[in-house]
Amino acid sequence: MGESFLSTILPGLMTDEIELSRKLKRLEQLSAQAQAALSADPKRALALAQEACNLAEQLGEREWLVRCALQVGDAYRALGEARLALELYREALGQTERASALQADVLHAAAVAYDSQGAYELALGQMIEVLKIRQGLGDKTGEARALNSIGVIFARSGDHEQSLYYYERALALQIELGDTLNRAIALNNVGIARKNLARYEAACEAYYEALALFEGLNHTLGQGAATCNLAVAYGKQGRHGEAEQLFARSLALVQATGNRTFEAEGRLDVGDFYLRLKRPEEALPHLARALTLGQEMAAKPAQYRAQQALAQAYELRGEFEAAYRHLLEYHRLEREVFSERSEQRLQALKVNFQLEQAERDKEIYRLRNVELKQALETLERQAKLLEEQATRDPLTGLYNRRYLDGVLSEEFARTMRYQHPLSLAIADIDFFKRINDRLSHAVGDEVLRALAGLFVENTRTVDVVARYGGEEFVVMFRNTELEQAALAAEKIRQAIELHPWQGIHPELTVTVSMGLASSNGFAHYEQLLNAADINLYQAKHQGKNRVRL
Ligand code: GH3
Ligand code: MG
Ligand code: MG
Repeated sequence: MGESFLSTILPGLMTDEIELSRKLKRLEQLSAQAQAALSADPKRALALAQEACNLAEQLGEREWLVRCALQVGDAYRALGEARLALELYREALGQTERASALQADVLHAAAVAYDSQGAYELALGQMIEVLKIRQGLGDKTGEARALNSIGVIFARSGDHEQSLYYYERALALQIELGDTLNRAIALNNVGIARKNLARYEAACEAYYEALALFEGLNHTLGQGAATCNLAVAYGKQGRHGEAEQLFARSLALVQATGNRTFEAEGRLDVGDFYLRLKRPEEALPHLARALTLGQEMAAKPAQYRAQQALAQAYELRGEFEAAYRHLLEYHRLEREVFSERSEQRLQALKVNFQLEQAERDKEIYRLRNVELKQALETLERQAKLLEEQATRDPLTGLYNRRYLDGVLSEEFARTMRYQHPLSLAIADIDFFKRINDRLSHAVGDEVLRALAGLFVENTRTVDVVARYGGEEFVVMFRNTELEQAALAAEKIRQAIELHPWQGIHPELTVTVSMGLASSNGFAHYEQLLNAADINLYQAKHQGKNRVRL
């Protein structure tokens, strides 16, 4: 190649390259700006992410396109448009490789969107998928994020034991990774879960530790949040003076950051605190301000919490007309949120089905030349499985607590009507903490799965086996007297004791304790559960690995 040729072509090439790298730079910039604007100004984040999307499309950058589409979705979610976000995630998902990091990112975002719509089972199933992908990729940061998000989902669905368990796992991982900010956030969450379980002193320990870390990082919003949480916990313990000081400090910190969501939540916490002390005068200004902030942000949950608290405050002051007005407003908003939720939940189910459909189309395309019919059948089965997930625990495949509560209350009503006997066993693994701590959580999870199999194998098909808590199982024996149920429970206990656990780990042995009760004389199914639980407690006390009735 002669020199003259090179000199004619090079300048052109160079300008193309420069142009391309200039556009890529711009793309990176837009995406970073969108990320930064997300919590403070989601509208601006949306515009920036949309611009980035266009640019990525122009450049034919597929991975960037997915990343920017995710950001557009996140902005929609922040604006309260979870449905639009989910549609975007669905499209983005079709562009990702199975079990890739990018796919996990999209699934994570979709799970958060489901969670925000109250579709907890869907959110959970999806987030557990994310966890598996991250673990498969050896991505510990992503794994910790997923563990934390699973904790959030459990907390929002009201299962604080499970929530604590996952927050603690996230915390352990953050410590291992040496990530101080996320460690502080995880500690704060651990504190919240402990508070929700009424373990206030332990909650404060976690908050103080989080606070120290936030201070070290000069992270004002984190300090504000941890301080507010501390105030709530002090209040619950009756240490009112300290709580008031902490509330004041927390509000000052949060206000300095200009974050209106945190300010509204903080003021609602302060308001609740004063209401419990029957001091409406002091509650009112905070609640009024929380309401204004909620209205400014168009955030309905903040508004209806404020309306409800305002109604209480006016009632305490004997101003019944004002109380009534706020109560009406509260009911109106709650109904709006509630019916919106159920409508959104339906939508979420539909979108999830479409998500699955997109995956299925991809799979069919890949298999077109193989055995299409067989593949289709498998996929149909998978779709059915997916439908079942709403009632199933993802780890063991057993029915979940929600399902059991439903079926138990129905069965109990039938028992009352027809005088059928109904018996119930609660089983709790003995020394399960030790198994987790000495042999690893992975072994613990294996044990849970194997136990699920043993419970199912050793019960009749009409009986219902459910995973009732982290390491608790419930068997509902239909149409069964206590004596027969006791025989069945003993059979299960023995099968568990004799199972070759060394197949999972050479040092592993597993036993369970069980409490049994039958419905005679109880007016509500919860009394039946309680009676079984008390017997379980007895079984533990008398040395474990036994059935008590
Ligand atoms: P006891 O014999 O008195 O029942 O003692 P225990 O060790 O079983 O004590 P406890 O009931 O307090 O401990 C339950 C443990 O179960 C704590 C938690 O770490 C663990 N756990 C809860 N959910 C899961 C899970 O999904 N997987 C695993 N691996 N462990 C779990
Ligand atoms: Mg237990
Ligand atoms: Mg146990």
